Amino acid sequence: MTYEKSINAFKEAYKVIPGGVDSPVRAFNSVGGTPPFIAKGEGAYLIDIDDNRYIDYVQSWGPLIFGHCDSDIEKAVIEAVKKGLSFGAPTLAETQLAKEIVSLFDNIDKVRFVSSGTEAVMSAIRLARGVTNRDDIVKFAGCYHGHSDSLLVQAGSGLATFGTPSSPGVPSDLTKHTFVATYNDINSVKKCFETGNIACVIIEPIAGNMGLVPAEESFLKELRALCDKHGTLLIFDEVMSGFRASLKGAQGITSVIPDIVTWGKVIGGGMPVGAFGANSKIMSYLSPEGPVYQAGTLSGNPVAMAAGLASLKKIKSNPAIYVSLSQKAKRLMDGFSKAAASVGLIIVTDVRGSMFGFFFSKSPVRNFDDALKNDTQMFAKFHQAMLGRGIYLACSAYETGFISTAITDEMIEETIKAAYESMEEIVKG
Ligand SMILES: *Cc1c(COP(=O)(O)O)cnc(C)c1O
Repeated sequence: MTYEKSINAFKEAYKVIPGGVDSPVRAFNSVGGTPPFIAKGEGAYLIDIDDNRYIDYVQSWGPLIFGHCDSDIEKAVIEAVKKGLSFGAPTLAETQLAKEIVSLFDNIDKVRFVSSGTEAVMSAIRLARGVTNRDDIVKFAGCYHGHSDSLLVQAGSGLATFGTPSSPGVPSDLTKHTFVATYNDINSVKKCFETGNIACVIIEPIAGNMGLVPAEESFLKELRALCDKHGTLLIFDEVMSGFRASLKGAQGITSVIPDIVTWGKVIGGGMPVGAFGANSKIMSYLSPEGPVYQAGTLSGNPVAMAAGLASLKKIKSNPAIYVSLSQKAKRLMDGFSKAAASVGLIIVTDVRGSMFGFFFSKSPVRNFDDALKNDTQMFAKFHQAMLGRGIYLACSAYETGFISTAITDEMIEETIKAAYESMEEIVKG
């Protein structure tokens, strides 16, 4: 495989775009090498500008559950495009998509659409603060909720539980209201409640941004009870796991019921859509019904709504896809484990619906500290070796992989074969 054109394209991009990319992870910094520039997608495949072909396990970081260029979604988008790109006025598609979502969940009466996951979470947090009239929030180390100020926080040093900014440009005056707890550790959350007046606890119920690390059921139950005790709202950030882990996301897996849910990725079928929802009482605080301000020029954009609606309708009429996606994910992870074992390596794997993850780590991963113990250099080598064999995996050890319905059993076998070869290559080199 040669990457000549991508190497040149990356140099050109570098001149006019910081780091050559519009979202940092795309730069391949943690795995090395040049990111292939993509010319087009075709079902399960990505084709780069050097004409290399890859089986795509990234799926635009989650949205494309039906793979690239799904004909139903494509058709819906083209029809919408012909009617106009944006109106900044209500359209029927917004109500239709909202109804598709609301009808799935007993705890959700209303949703509001925005244009990204970041925006959905940021708005949900403001809503929770507005409803409870409190400022403090709790998040978990290793969970990602987009790049808004209050959430770009890392655990403070020592015993202090409130966060410090994880990026320059974020005032510590803002992050002092964000407490950082340890995933799957209820005592760390209790500690936050001792000092904070907590508006909401936000969690990825199936964490996908520190690798794939699901929350334990008992932990989620304790979290719910703790929130109830303190009059605190529980937010499930399902921007990644929504319509991915199951039809109802994590809510289809756990019995714990959140107060507010955020979505993104799959909900837009590949177009920029985010959403957040709750019961009528909570949502009534939102402007113009209530006092909590939130707005967006392109929110509920008709083309994006058309893509989301086509995608969700297709999912809802084929709920069995999650069984087959999950079987493929499990087969893939079993294959990776065996490939690793064949060269004397141990990896930790997990699967939730169409989401899969693996760590080059010997011990189980229950939280971010555990995840950090993985061998990222080994991962980087494996990533490169797989890429060279036409397998496009997420370019960081802390990301989740995705199966689309376009991926066949034969492709899974081909990928496992590449994994055997790659494992052999990385232990040698
Ligand atoms: C991707 C993601 C976000 C941010 O969504 P963007 O569309 O990238 O802004 C927020 N939360 C979770 C759990 C995510 O996976």
